[in-house]
Amino acid sequence: MSAPQFDQARRQIADTCRELARRGLVLGTAGNVSVRVARPGSAEADAFGTSDAFAITPTGGDFATMEAHHVVLVDADGHVLAGDLQPTSELGLHLGLYRSSDTGAIVHTHAPMATAVSCVLDELPCIHYQMLALGGAIPVATYATFGTQELVRSVLGAMEGRPAVLMANHGALTHGQNLEIAVAHTLLLEWACEMYWRAASIGKPRALDTEQQMAVIRQVLVRNYGTTQPIAEAD
Ligand SMILES: [Zn+2]
Repeated sequence: MSAPQFDQARRQIADTCRELARRGLVLGTAGNVSVRVARPGSAEADAFGTSDAFAITPTGGDFATMEAHHVVLVDADGHVLAGDLQPTSELGLHLGLYRSSDTGAIVHTHAPMATAVSCVLDELPCIHYQMLALGGAIPVATYATFGTQELVRSVLGAMEGRPAVLMANHGALTHGQNLEIAVAHTLLLEWACEMYWRAASIGKPRALDTEQQMAVIRQVLVRNYGTTQPIAEAD
C-alpha cells in the first residue's frame, strides 16, 4: 500500500533523522519522529482505507542510517497500515498528541543539553526573548517510564498548547504544523537549554518578566521580526 504523501513523508523523516544524528541531537536509536500524512475524509485517507494516518520511525531505528523504507505508516489506533517494521515504543505519545491537537509533525530526542536541563529543573525559565517562539518558559513533564500511558499523560499535561516540552530525566519533545517547524523548535529548545547551562555556570540566570515578554511580542508585531523586508518598506 502506498501513496505519494506517504512516500514523501518517509523520505522527509529519514532525511531529518540523519540530520538530527549528524548534529549530535540523537545518539543511535534515542529518538523518534512522525508526520501526519492523512486527515479524515482526505484522498490519502481514502487510499489507505482509514481516517487518519501517520508516518513514524520504527522502534530500534538507528537515526544515522535511517532510510525511507524503515519508516512505517500507522492509523490513529496504532495499527500498521504500511511498512515492514514495528513502530517506535513512543507511538502512544505521538498518537496522544495528534489526538489532542491539530499538529502536523512531532520530534522527540534525548538531545544532550535538553536532557541535562531536564535532570535538574522543574521549568526552564524564559531567559531569552527567542524562547517566546516556544511559548516562553518551558515546562518539565514529571518523570515516567518510557513507552507508558503515564508518560503520555505527564507530557500532554505539561504541554498545555505549547510547541515544546522537556521530559524529566529523559529528553525533549517538540511539534509543529510541519516537520521543518517541529525540527526548528527542537533546535531552538536545544539552543535555549545550552544558553541556560552556560549562564548558570557563571551565576544565577535572570528570567524575563511578564512585562518584558509582552513588550517583545508587541515589538515583533510592529517590526515583523524574523522576515526580510525590502528597503522601501523598512523604517
Ligand atoms: Zn525517549
